[in-house]
Amino acid sequence: MTRKLSMERVRDLMVQRMDALRQSVDSTMCTLKVMDEKFADPFDQAVIEASNSVELKCRTNDWHALLEIKETILRIDRGLHGMCDLCGRQISQKRLRAAPMSKLCLECQKEKEAESRQRPKHGCLQGRMSLTHA
Ligand SMILES: [Zn+2]
Repeated sequence: MTRKLSMERVRDLMVQRMDALRQSVDSTMCTLKVMDEKFADPFDQAVIEASNSVELKCRTNDWHALLEIKETILRIDRGLHGMCDLCGRQISQKRLRAAPMSKLCLECQKEKEAESRQRPKHGCLQGRMSLTHA
């Protein structure tokens, strides 16, 4: 195992993941378009609407993942990858290997998680709403 994680390799990995996700997002959109027809049978309609909402939820998750991947690639290109967003310290190689998209060092991540546990999640809900209506 190499001691230092190669940025090129992480970037390649991110691009691969992005392509895979893009394909799945595209195919979901196609499925939605095909299904976006009115059916005479109310039972069919209900089944289709239910499956659409599942697809939409998947799509939202995919979009979220896509955004995160894009951000990681940008950070690599700008030479910011591997630096903590909050304290600016180097994120450990061990942590980056386990989670290449980390933006925070372990200490800051723990603090952030402790904070979000204390606070009600209004921001999170709002973010989700705007994604669904976009
Ligand atoms: Zn930090």
